[in-house]
Amino acid sequence: MTGDIDLKEKPKDEKKSAKTETKTGTEDTVIEFQNVTKQYSANIEAVHDVSFCISAGEFISLVGPSGAGKSTLIKLLTCEEKPTSGKIVVAGRDITELKKKELPYFRRKVGVIFQDFKLLPKKTVYENVAFALEVCDAPDDEVKDKVPKIIDLVGLTRRAFSFTEELSGGEKQRVSIARALVHNPKLLIADEPTGNLDPVSTWEIVELLFKINKQGTIVMLATHDREVVDSLQKRVITMKEGKLVSDQQKGKYNL
Ligand code: ADP
Repeated sequence: MTGDIDLKEKPKDEKKSAKTETKTGTEDTVIEFQNVTKQYSANIEAVHDVSFCISAGEFISLVGPSGAGKSTLIKLLTCEEKPTSGKIVVAGRDITELKKKELPYFRRKVGVIFQDFKLLPKKTVYENVAFALEVCDAPDDEVKDKVPKIIDLVGLTRRAFSFTEELSGGEKQRVSIARALVHNPKLLIADEPTGNLDPVSTWEIVELLFKINKQGTIVMLATHDREVVDSLQKRVITMKEGKLVSDQQKGKYNL
């Protein structure tokens, strides 16, 4: 499809430039922030000179106190905001230079889920997931084939024809994960996905994110949940006042 961005396969001519642009990245680097700063106004600098690389298959927790710049960092990664300076290279392309018509294709490769689910309450689980494909003019056959498989992956086959407003919080989050997965994203960003959930549902959602990660999707989990971060034993990026203050493999929640 023209304008589509395959986050796995880099176009030949861009492989070269990615290498030269990427000072700290390796062959495995899928995402690179290079000295990224985002100023909303003269006295609000939400992200300051942030640099890091993410490789294929990683699971990263993004932590930091409120106002640290986590949401802004996520918005930069989904192209909702543009940096004031710096580059964000995804699969060899500087996404800050994507053209308007390329954005929808890019966004399909980056799934995002939120604390408040953002589901269509008067529609069923099946309809919510199918809708994400239908708005992209997916053929009926593809919808019929994909939707049940994804609903099964998130463990909701039994509730496929329930209205989402009838579901528990944990089940709603599963629907939003299913919806985020319909375009086979290479990156799934989970922005406080367990903020509204009880402890049991929290662990079920974390386990589901793990399962998705094991199947090859990079997962970035922004969370305030110390217990979750500490038990994950995965990479932890910590932000404070817009700066990246720590980046540790097998990190802990250190705030
Ligand atoms: P976090 O997600 O870690 O709580 P945010 O990225 O939401 O942090 O916010 C970082 C800083 O940027 C805060 O000072 C916040 O008030 C400010 N900020 C966030 N979004 C905007 C915006 N759209 N306009 C102006 N300031 C903003």
